[in-house]
Amino acid sequence: MCERSANCSKDDACQLVIRNNDTGIETVEYYCKAHLVLRICEVEDDDGLTVVDATKLWN
Ligand SMILES: [Zn+2]
Repeated sequence: MCERSANCSKDDACQLVIRNNDTGIETVEYYCKAHLVLRICEVEDDDGLTVVDATKLWN
């Protein structure tokens, strides 16, 4: 489920919605909790991208 690594064994899924500031297009990515934090840091450092929403998905 985690998009960061195919070998990631974490099964806690989080949904991250990102908007491209140039196109306005929003994309949805899925990560485990740990990799979600890493990805949010990357997005916040990228002036072209904005975090729209980050949600823990409960099974
Ligand atoms: Zn992961």
